[in-house]
Amino acid sequence: MTDSPAPSTAPEPLGSVVPSAVPTHWYNLSADLPEPVPPALNPGTREPLGPADLAPLFPMALIMQEVATERYIEIPQAVREVYALWRPSPLIRAMRLERALGTPARIYYKYEGVSPAGSHKPNTAVAQAYYNAAEGVTKLTTETGAGQWGASLSMACALMGMECEVWQVRASYDQKPYRRMQMETYGGVCHPSPSELTEAGRAMLAKDPETTGSLGMAISEAVEVAAKDPKAHYSLGSVLNHVLLHQTVIGQEALAQLDEIGETADIVFGCAGGGSNLAGLSFPFLGRNLRDGATTKVVACEPASCPSLTQGEYRYDFGDVAGLTPLLKMHTLGKDFVPPPIHAGGLRYHGMAPMVSHAKELGLLDAIAIDQDTAFAAGLEFARAEGIIPAPESTHAVAGAVAHARRATTDEVIVIGLSGNGVLDLPAYADYV
Ligand SMILES: *Cc1c(COP(=O)(O)O)cnc(C)c1O
Repeated sequence: MTDSPAPSTAPEPLGSVVPSAVPTHWYNLSADLPEPVPPALNPGTREPLGPADLAPLFPMALIMQEVATERYIEIPQAVREVYALWRPSPLIRAMRLERALGTPARIYYKYEGVSPAGSHKPNTAVAQAYYNAAEGVTKLTTETGAGQWGASLSMACALMGMECEVWQVRASYDQKPYRRMQMETYGGVCHPSPSELTEAGRAMLAKDPETTGSLGMAISEAVEVAAKDPKAHYSLGSVLNHVLLHQTVIGQEALAQLDEIGETADIVFGCAGGGSNLAGLSFPFLGRNLRDGATTKVVACEPASCPSLTQGEYRYDFGDVAGLTPLLKMHTLGKDFVPPPIHAGGLRYHGMAPMVSHAKELGLLDAIAIDQDTAFAAGLEFARAEGIIPAPESTHAVAGAVAHARRATTDEVIVIGLSGNGVLDLPAYADYV
């Protein structure tokens, strides 16, 4: 716990040139929602969380973003300079896919796979590392599923001069060794979860020594270590409001890129695990719907094997298995739900971001569940038409869009959130083929 303010270790801006197309602010959907998002609750008192509840785990700047209601929040220049290494990310028209599908629709994809870690996750990892360093924190702990988050945070910590310790879901740790190597290349330390290193991990192993792990278990371990170390904080790669906020660079860029070519999105498809890339792409569109009466539809595409939005209950639940996190109002399959070890490891989470859940309840977005074979089939179709091999998670968004485009009878505009590339997930494709 940080009691007194520690000196900042955040890097100063370098003075490098940042293209004007890189957003200057993050967009906060809370400012435009007709009803506020239900607050996170203290699990002991069931009262709304105050900043003091979160201070052991998060820097104050991120706690304030978690509850912020202003529409735009300025992006620190040192963060924009890092964004400029790969942003603005391209918005590409998938003409070969259109031709292959024989659709009259125009399909665009917003491609986040151009980041150094290969997905959208560095958009928040860099911001989180920056704000922690600015408050004198020298180490971040986290969980990771498929490994993209651990790799992204390891990269961000390297760029911000911090240490990074990661608990990776056992199933993915065994299936995807390249992610661990990526983390270690950036200087991160990666353990399989559950591990013998924490009380939570030891308890879970005692209960089931053969467990393949879950994100909920890994969160418990990372939170426990951060809570006990005064120089460490915890970092979450999805679900929380501030994470979704950081991802809105995606949708703001996409809106501007479509405007520039005179297009208006009729429907946006994003894959949803914890909800951050979907929110990042779609919230700026939803904001425009709410403010200006635009009518862009948004569809969350989740795996049929972990269907929180389409099958889960909407209620308060813990974010982790041990019940260490605040209570979040969300669509949940229950904190003890252990999803099957599907290839799209990044979508194996029992809950859903409270802001995405709330938007679904308000009817602002729809959700569909897609089975693994349908997702991979669409991923192959996309790869063979467009050249990019989508991340297994992203194939769910592709599958949703492909099915829609096949049914299309007009020249509507479809936007796909292509959240990452699958170059480190080729064994999953090989299994499918
Ligand atoms: C982690 C990940 C996801 C799922 O996380 P969200 O918070 O739902 O975005 C989706 N796609 C890729 C490529 C990922 O790495």
